Amino acid sequence: MKKAYAGIDIGGSHVKFGLCHLDGSIIHSDKADVGIGGGRDVLLGQVIDCAKRLLELSSEAGFTLESVGIGTPGIVDHNTGCVIGMSPNLPGWEGTEIKKEVEAAIDIEVCVDNDVNVMTLAEVVFGAARGYRHVIATTVGTGVGGGIVIDGKLYRGSIGGAGEFGHITVVKDGEICGCGKRGCLEAYASATALLREAHALSNDTGNKSRLSERFANGGEITVGEIFRLAENDGDRDAGNLVDQAADYLAVGLSSIISVLNPEVVIVGGGMADAGGDYYMNLVEKHLESRTISSHFEHLKLRRAALGNRAGFVGAGILKDFGY
Ligand SMILES: [Zn+2]
Repeated sequence: MKKAYAGIDIGGSHVKFGLCHLDGSIIHSDKADVGIGGGRDVLLGQVIDCAKRLLELSSEAGFTLESVGIGTPGIVDHNTGCVIGMSPNLPGWEGTEIKKEVEAAIDIEVCVDNDVNVMTLAEVVFGAARGYRHVIATTVGTGVGGGIVIDGKLYRGSIGGAGEFGHITVVKDGEICGCGKRGCLEAYASATALLREAHALSNDTGNKSRLSERFANGGEITVGEIFRLAENDGDRDAGNLVDQAADYLAVGLSSIISVLNPEVVIVGGGMADAGGDYYMNLVEKHLESRTISSHFEHLKLRRAALGNRAGFVGAGILKDFGY
């Protein structure tokens, strides 16, 4: 029987799960909706159902599994597989002993880590950072997450809390962040911040840009629309907003680059997906001006390559590569 990897990626709205070959190619993937407000037990039940489904799928297809990996938002003690903090989008999830609970339901080892750590691992083993040993990865979407690989090894810090790039202070006493602090990178570079700034501009009645017109016509605007207005329509306000968000990301990343001197920086998440090369070029332009030249010259900036399968693929390879 051939070996395969099985992983589960817990998100705020979906639990994605899948099987992949040893080269990272997908055998099967699927997702289940997370019942909003269902609470801890409902979510844990869904995760266990996904794990059981992965075991069935692998046995039907003639594969053996050595483990099931799980990526989850929050600070995770990867030894105990317990969520020990910072999971504001999953109320009640903190304290959940995921490894213990899922292992009690399925007869196989369960490995658990933070969702951005597993995404980083997937990009290092199969994706945009393949072949590199000094890597930082960031997901820029509703929030800003981070993962760190030092000398080929995922760096988790003392309690599993390393890589919380979103909570680097970039503005002293600045905008309030979801973590309760002020001036965090997440409060300036995330999709949430971009939408907040777009709304603020739309309230300026003297403003005649396409972006403001879009608001005047009612409804909500999306990050994708703001990028289209900036890139395709040359809208000045939309362009300034995305440039500012990219610059703040560069402010945060330049500090991390000064500390860790990575070979490659991977950027994924909703902003990179919506903005594509347009966004990445802005980030690179600002990184060049904000990073010390010796570090920038030896640095590659790359968009994440594995998209939303990075979560379950990275979780699946935790046992083999997440040492
Ligand atoms: Zn924060």
